[in-house]
Amino acid sequence: MSLKSLNKSLDAIFTERIASLQAEHRFRTPIEATIEGAYITVEGKRYLNFSSNDYLGLGQSDALKDAATRATAEFGTGAGASKLVTGNHPLYKELESSIAKLKGKESAVVFGSGYLANMGTIPCLVGKEDLVLADKLCHACILDGIQLSGAKLIRFKHNDLSDLKSKLQANEGKFGNILIITETVFSMDGDLAPISKISELSKECGAWLMVDDAHGFGVVKDASADADIVMGTFSKGAGSYGGYVCADKTVIDYIKSAARPHMFSTGLPPAVVAASGAAINKIEKAVYPVKSVKYSNIFIQNINNGQKAQSAIVPIIIGDEKAALEAQDKLKAKGFWVQAIRPPAVANNTSRLRITFTAYHTEDDVLSLANAIKELELV
Ligand SMILES: *Cc1c(COP(=O)(O)O)cnc(C)c1O
Repeated sequence: MSLKSLNKSLDAIFTERIASLQAEHRFRTPIEATIEGAYITVEGKRYLNFSSNDYLGLGQSDALKDAATRATAEFGTGAGASKLVTGNHPLYKELESSIAKLKGKESAVVFGSGYLANMGTIPCLVGKEDLVLADKLCHACILDGIQLSGAKLIRFKHNDLSDLKSKLQANEGKFGNILIITETVFSMDGDLAPISKISELSKECGAWLMVDDAHGFGVVKDASADADIVMGTFSKGAGSYGGYVCADKTVIDYIKSAARPHMFSTGLPPAVVAASGAAINKIEKAVYPVKSVKYSNIFIQNINNGQKAQSAIVPIIIGDEKAALEAQDKLKAKGFWVQAIRPPAVANNTSRLRITFTAYHTEDDVLSLANAIKELELV
């Protein structure tokens, strides 16, 4: 077989794969986006942006930019090696102790990203003999981490304590350790998990509780400290980059020397670690509810859906992929950037507009989006 024919069949195979994604309205290409405050510019057109997770408006703040610039001047641009080799520059220690303190835990470890934190941590906590009970709506990277661990996975109904309890009881004695995983704020639905109650249940049953605080960090005053293990990311509310895990010192010490993404991936650039540290300084002083959560409530009142917003995220469920993309395009035509979210990010037939509010918005921005959504009869 010649190399040429191999190349041809590779091309043919991927052309087919792309065509089938396109037929399902699931083909995606990253758009080139320039962000400036509440606005996004795409292909020369400017829109009001309702698809950013920079909830607190820190990513474009002078405080974070200055911290990053100073760190680059002092330490250079790259960490140069894994944290376990020579990449653990002095900014890490400060960041790890301040995130642990903020989360009410003894110790913390910072990973390259939130995704890597889950991929690295879950296999340190559980293995083939163990069971993970995860909320039905848990994020893809939690599921990937569980799969990598080899533990048995059972999903419990979203935020359903009695389903979780019956699944715990049904599996009593069948596994080594049991780990419960949920999120503080659900990424695609914006609702909160009953962390304190799940924590009580986990203690009663001798299970461990891990929570993913990606969308709660700095946005809601949550009960994540009730969990045994708290992970999160600096890439959303904190406006920077990098993942973290907080827990007892013994757990963190073990993760530091056993988590493969911590061992085999280069440390974060000093600028990024410094920006995350500056974000913590801001988040420590936050007054709740923060602006973005207030905006969610103003928005919900204006579209009359009668619910109370719990976070900076408000979903408008459309149904199929095509209809969700059409809704996105109609809003674009009116000058609003609201991303349609489709499977596999959400369950089949729950494609939606995922609206997020940030500190960059004004109340008028929020009201104008609510009006557009009513005019288009999307609710
Ligand atoms: C975004 C996200 C992550 C991953 O964080 P990154 O730092 O962006 O890799 C993890 N969990 C949840 C729930 C998320 O939404």
